[in-house]
Amino acid sequence: MSPTVATPRQAMVIGAGLAGAAVCAQLARRGWEVALVDAASGPAQGASALPVGMLSPHVTRAPTPLSRLSALGMQATLAELQRLVLPGRGWQACEVDNLGHDPGRWPAALVRPAALVQAWLEEAAARVTRHWHARAHRLERTPSGHWRAVDAAGNTLAEAPVAVVAAAHGSHRLLVDSALMEPDHLPLRPVKGQMSLAELRGAPLADRPRRDSGVFVPVYEDSGLPPDWPVRLWAMGSTYTRGDSTTHLTPQAHEANAASLQSICPPAAERLRSLQASGALLGWAQVRCASLDRLPLVGAVPDAGALRELMTQAGVRRGRVPLHETPRGKDLYVLSALGSRGITLAHLCAGWLAAGMEGEPSGAEADLLATLDPARFAWRQARRQP
Ligand SMILES: Cc1cc2nc3c(=O)[nH]c(=O)nc-3n(C[C@H](O)[C@H](O)[C@H](O)COP(=O)(O)OP(=O)(O)OC[C@H]3O[C@@H](n4cnc5c(N)ncnc54)[C@H](O)[C@@H]3O)c2cc1C
Repeated sequence: MSPTVATPRQAMVIGAGLAGAAVCAQLARRGWEVALVDAASGPAQGASALPVGMLSPHVTRAPTPLSRLSALGMQATLAELQRLVLPGRGWQACEVDNLGHDPGRWPAALVRPAALVQAWLEEAAARVTRHWHARAHRLERTPSGHWRAVDAAGNTLAEAPVAVVAAAHGSHRLLVDSALMEPDHLPLRPVKGQMSLAELRGAPLADRPRRDSGVFVPVYEDSGLPPDWPVRLWAMGSTYTRGDSTTHLTPQAHEANAASLQSICPPAAERLRSLQASGALLGWAQVRCASLDRLPLVGAVPDAGALRELMTQAGVRRGRVPLHETPRGKDLYVLSALGSRGITLAHLCAGWLAAGMEGEPSGAEADLLATLDPARFAWRQARRQP
């Protein structure tokens, strides 16, 4: 991540899910004033409205970028939860039994992301101005060199010297339509997920969550859940439908969850199917935002034109421009593509982003940071071109 700004202390953050709220919290702690802009009527209404998800390490035999990231993210997020959210009002610690690949029992937590988003925004409240019902249509430069977010009618939604786009899949449209990134350089893909859930009456059907293809949560209790959800529930999820950006529930997805549950806990699969037949099964569906290599995008937005120019300069051999020397758009950052790991990664990535914005070392290992660099796709393409 190559920082392009050290002095301005005002930023605009677009997107108020886990990613945007984590950035707000990190910047506010560093003394920044933030304008938070979201198309929805309040925070955590996209994928971060998930009723319950899992905070857990991604365990692999040999370390991978995701396993290293999730190990760090798990610790960092757990500390945030312990500090800011009461157990039973947005999260509960647990363990998870991995049944398929890399079997074993791992520490984990069940988390309602909206509780963490709310907590971050409450903590940062004195420094964050919130703008709801504010869909950014374009990002443009003002004559004074600030960033301005405008709606479809051309009205200004917010203006600041620095902009952070944390709008999940909406980041693609915003950055590409504003001609700030080329479509191929921001390969974000929607992945629809549907969770099946129901009120838990009586004893849970397992001692702890189990994961194989999907996660079975035998019991989750949360007195902070919105009134349309049971306070004590069990859940199975979630489906993975790549390329689908719809959010309606389907019986086929409930059946897919029941089929996955069959090998995890057969009595629970039977219960899921019988609740579905009686019309008592609840569900929740939303869209994850994943990148082509399934890793988040964290850092300064590349300037593809300047990169191409640099690579064609006499004396500069294509392979000799290192990724971190990719030219950047001034004071423009992105945190997106958290995929199915937003709970685990948002806080960690936002911390690294905020450090980079101030030109400080993030504490992250350089190779790990490079795997998240939002310039990686533009850089690879520029190296390949004749
Ligand atoms: C079914 C399902 C199960 C999941 N399970 C887990 C799990 O167990 N563990 C885990 O860690 N993660 C899980 N996830 C993933 C997790 O929910 C996401 O990674 C996380 O919520 C993404 O946060 P975000 O802030 O990037 O996106 P979002 O929460 O989607 O927020 C993006 C925000 O940007 C706003 N926006 C978009 N475009 C614009 C615009 N142009 N102008 C203004 N605002 C805009 C939207 O309104 C939205 O509020 C799951 C996701 C799904 C769908």
